[in-house]
Amino acid sequence: SKANGKNQTSLYKASIQADRNTRARIDNELRKAIISNELSLVYQPQICPVTNKLTGVEALIRWHSKELGEISPAEFIPLAEENGQIVELGYWVLKEACSTLKKWQKTFSTHINMSVNVSAAQLANPMFLKTVHQILQVSAINPKYITMEITESTAIADMDNVRSILEQLSQHGIQISLDDFGTGFSSISLLRQLPLTSLKIDRSFFNELKRDSQDWLIIKAIQELGSAMGHKVVAEGVETLAQLDLVRELECDVVQGYVYSQPLAQTALEASYFLPQDS
Ligand code: C2E
Ligand code: CA
Ligand code: CA
Ligand code: CA
Repeated sequence: SKANGKNQTSLYKASIQADRNTRARIDNELRKAIISNELSLVYQPQICPVTNKLTGVEALIRWHSKELGEISPAEFIPLAEENGQIVELGYWVLKEACSTLKKWQKTFSTHINMSVNVSAAQLANPMFLKTVHQILQVSAINPKYITMEITESTAIADMDNVRSILEQLSQHGIQISLDDFGTGFSSISLLRQLPLTSLKIDRSFFNELKRDSQDWLIIKAIQELGSAMGHKVVAEGVETLAQLDLVRELECDVVQGYVYSQPLAQTALEASYFLPQDS
């Protein structure tokens, strides 16, 4: 009926308004998050499936807002990308990740890799290269221990500029990983356009992985292509031992997923992976 339709319209308007309000609040609180000390990083282990040894970690941001509670990066990162705050957040993430890595190198004489996520808007910032160099220099981190993860959409947003920035990062020694690989539209052509060191096959391929399934065939093809091109192939989102067995058969180089570990706070990761075992 007409009345119903009208009600639905105003409900719809109300929910858009609520969304706008929430976004505005998140936006507003996020501006204060760095100085209010509300951000932290967690680190998810990346493991060699043959030796079961830690080869690196991915730094993932967490935001505990005093006003709004725990907010997922899936919610606030896209907002920060839209409003430009991702540039400042990204520098904070890199600094924090480098400082953690330095601590691990000093305290545990360990030389694992640190991966950080980098958005298109960060690469587009004219100060990006200079600031990255500065952060690594101040933290005394050898760039070869840093991997920057970019997604396909990042790369195609502004291909010429992205390629040029990535080439300079790569010449500086930083490793480049193509994240969520296989989900976009131009994955294969990106392989010949970008100076990559690893491919991270998207976790949707491992969700319900079975031998000889389509997912299995796709992973197998990506692994063979990636290896032939000299890239490390990372399997993301591996959750079960059965999936891990298949990933071993498929000869992926690195596994990141709940089967080994969820992302961990710095001290929890140290306790699980670095403290010497009593013999
Ligand atoms: P991503 O880069 O693809 O990161 C992997 C996500 O998959 C993480 O979610 C991780 O916790 C989750 N994950 C890992 N293993 C498994 C598994 O076995 N099963 C399942 N179901 N999930 C798994 P998280 O931490 O919520 O991050 C979500 C996204 O937010 C990231 O996806 C990334 O796109 C973005 N993000 C997180 N931190 C940062 C950051 O510092 N900078 C930027 N630009 N983006 C970030
Ligand atoms: Ca990532
Ligand atoms: Ca991913
Ligand atoms: Ca992603």
